[in-house]
Amino acid sequence: MDAAEFRRRGREMVDYVADYLENIEERPVSSDVEPGYLRSLIPTEAPLEPDNYDDIIKDVERVIMPGITHWNSPYFYAYFPASNSYPAMLADMLCGGLGCIGFTWAASPACTELETVMLDWLGKMLKLPDHFIAGTHGRGGGVIQGTASEATLMALLAARCKTLRRIRAANSELSEGEIRSKLVAYTSEQAHSSVERASLIGDVTMRMVPTDSTYAVRGSMLKKMLEEDKAAGLIPFYFCATLGTTASCAFDNITELGPICNKEHVWMHIDAAYAGSAFICPEFRPLLNGIEFADSFNFNPHKWLLVNFDCSTMWVKKREDIIGAFNVDPLYLKHENQESGAVQVYFHLHTQYILQTQVALAKEFESLVRADKRFEICAEVVMGLVCFRLKGSNDLNQLLLKRITNSREIHLVPCQLSGVFVLRFAICARSTDSRHIQHAWRHITQLSCELLQENH
Ligand code: PLP
Repeated sequence: MDAAEFRRRGREMVDYVADYLENIEERPVSSDVEPGYLRSLIPTEAPLEPDNYDDIIKDVERVIMPGITHWNSPYFYAYFPASNSYPAMLADMLCGGLGCIGFTWAASPACTELETVMLDWLGKMLKLPDHFIAGTHGRGGGVIQGTASEATLMALLAARCKTLRRIRAANSELSEGEIRSKLVAYTSEQAHSSVERASLIGDVTMRMVPTDSTYAVRGSMLKKMLEEDKAAGLIPFYFCATLGTTASCAFDNITELGPICNKEHVWMHIDAAYAGSAFICPEFRPLLNGIEFADSFNFNPHKWLLVNFDCSTMWVKKREDIIGAFNVDPLYLKHENQESGAVQVYFHLHTQYILQTQVALAKEFESLVRADKRFEICAEVVMGLVCFRLKGSNDLNQLLLKRITNSREIHLVPCQLSGVFVLRFAICARSTDSRHIQHAWRHITQLSCELLQENH
């Protein structure tokens, strides 16, 4: 493909994507293919002769689209949003064209500098304390990761390294292995599975802290566990708090937890993968109070700030904690301005309105559920997630979800709260409006009616 053809094909691709997004609601939101469906649709070996571009593009509809779940369909209410937007797609295209990898400042100075400044902008929009803002002569700053899971792991490894050094400095007779075997990390029993996985990768024990009736961790619960573990000769070193849990969007009480962690030299990382974007709205910012106690904080703009996957932003209080833990310093990376990392980021800021609209839609859905006595709401609706179920057994609700899924009209996933099977209804697509919410509710109630009649 030469530049002339790229120009032509590029315009065609832009048209294809715009058509796809404009007409997305005409496609069934989820796929009905069987596992392994794709292998039979394409040759078993890579072609020896170049394929014709038109044929390849035809394969998008023939081979790929049948197996796509349309995350940006207004009928998609599963997981949490995976956002995109036209400006972000154009920015991705620009990055593809530049094709540089900014792993050090010298490798491409604009990458590092843009990343640092963008994270300062975003940090200021969230009203993060000054020590997280690189441009304030503080010791911290922001860096882009691929996912929240990576940020959680990064924070755990940095905390492990910091604690090993601190304990070794005071107890030179202890070997690194002895100290490591005593380290304990903590997180909520409601935390995302990636937090527990971080402890497996980091090879440390992780204990799950019980939650209160709102599925939030309170200070007293963590304090009790820290005291038990210290009395048993163990070394608490890391606590991962969640703001906006995956199951029900619950918020750990970081104003209680933060001072305890700080006093006990326990690194407090905050995972706000989904909810973090909402802190740009003044009405949600109070949920971030207590951030001043955190050693690190992360959220995913690719979930709810209209930025394409993958862009997960992480701030640390002290840059040296991260640099100290991961510095390997090979000669080919050495240069005069070494103290920073780099990735491009592009985001646009017309998002507050969309966030607020989506929360209003969640409230609209909540009112519909509350008005129907056959259903119940299972957790407070704070942002764009509604946890609800039919009053009745787990089996009944599992059956309802199965019928919803098989219908392919709307797409939801479940969660478990206090051992109860619950349906999660997350407002995901920026094109979702009241009409779609009403349609989804009609669909759910119709399937429920049929189910309840059969079970009567
Ligand atoms: N943490 C929370 C609270 C989440 O809700 C999720 C995903 O939804 C994650 C972590 C994992 O995010 P990622 O896929 O970016 O690792």
